[in-house]
Amino acid sequence: MPETRRADLAALDNTDPLRSFRAKFDLPDGVIYLDGNSLGCLPKATAARVSDVVTREWGQDLIRSWNKNDWINAPGRVGDKIADLIGANAGEVVVGDTTSINVFKCLSATLQLKSDRHILLSETGNFPTDAYMMQGLERLTNGRVEQRLVPPDAIFEALDDDIAVLLLTHTNYKSGRVRDMKAITATAHAKDIPVIWDLSHSCGAMPVHLNDCNADFAVGCGYKYLNGGPGAPAFLFAAKRHQEHVYPALSGWLGHKQPFAFDDFYNPAPGIDRFQCGTPGILGCAALEVGVDLMREADMEQIRAKSSALGALFIRLVNEQCEDFSFQLACPKNAEQRGSQVSFHHEEGYAIMQALIARGVIGDFRAPDILRFGFAPLYISYANIWDAVEILKEVMTSGEWDQEKFKQKAAVT
Ligand SMILES: *Cc1c(COP(=O)(O)O)cnc(C)c1O
Repeated sequence: MPETRRADLAALDNTDPLRSFRAKFDLPDGVIYLDGNSLGCLPKATAARVSDVVTREWGQDLIRSWNKNDWINAPGRVGDKIADLIGANAGEVVVGDTTSINVFKCLSATLQLKSDRHILLSETGNFPTDAYMMQGLERLTNGRVEQRLVPPDAIFEALDDDIAVLLLTHTNYKSGRVRDMKAITATAHAKDIPVIWDLSHSCGAMPVHLNDCNADFAVGCGYKYLNGGPGAPAFLFAAKRHQEHVYPALSGWLGHKQPFAFDDFYNPAPGIDRFQCGTPGILGCAALEVGVDLMREADMEQIRAKSSALGALFIRLVNEQCEDFSFQLACPKNAEQRGSQVSFHHEEGYAIMQALIARGVIGDFRAPDILRFGFAPLYISYANIWDAVEILKEVMTSGEWDQEKFKQKAAVT
């Protein structure tokens, strides 16, 4: 009986070791939010914290806040907190700018480590900004450096002596496939190739062990699983051993050794601070810090275990309940190879997703035909998965997705 099965899942929620986290988020009524991989939810503590930064720190303390409220150290302080979540040490992570800009900083840094090599290697089907940043560097250098994109399964054979750097996303945004960071990094290092890992869909969703994998550089997003808010500052990791060998291409004044000496000439700060560029966005850092603090209260192994179970449950229920509607799994079935999301191909994927959103089940659509559902284990329950699949089944059975209004593409999908 379906009802008993829903009750079984509700019982599972009652023993979930992460169950207390849901109350720490502001979730709208009537919504099952399966898009925390794109924009994380609002932690309840964020509004008060941002309001305090606005009204007291900015409003009353004004410029004094750079010292008095330690604004100047926000990028490094929040960076150190993120370091714990990704297997890095204090002094190896800094927060600021966007993931795209941090990709540029890391690419240009690795080019200095390998100045005799000229190929920037990555894979097709990655989140496009990573490839676009490579293409910009190719133009900037008038083709001295060149981008090379190979299919995901051809990465190993593409590692030759021309490769200056390998840039890979740890969890693919569309397929949800997770890369073996340790094995790939070791193979690249055997050919003397540094690796940049994009952790946008991994940080906050699963344990990441950058130093254990001997990683060189990494970047990631603040607004996805870290719940830092729309356009939250991103982060950049540079292994300690590389930091002193890089003269930042984006050599901004806050990456200077003595910003307040106002020297005419750039002299990079020691350590990770050289990867800062201009004045940090303090309001964004404040919201991000709340999300990161909340994430740090959770056990990352428990997050991963629950995320795997939620994904497996969703796949099983869609297969059972919606078997007549030709959804094709677009992510690995094996939970170990899958990030915290499940995706399905369907040729009417866009309209189906809009119909789901109209019913309060919020996922997203990625061209050409992918419905994407993200499971943020801090605020998604097992019963949510049941309810979401029931609604999907209703939307399909009734044909309610098949309406003109659901087929008009919006600017953001
Ligand atoms: C989300 C995402 C980004 C986002 O880049 P922004 O500069 O923050 O817009 C970059 N890379 C990957 C792999 C992503 O998933």
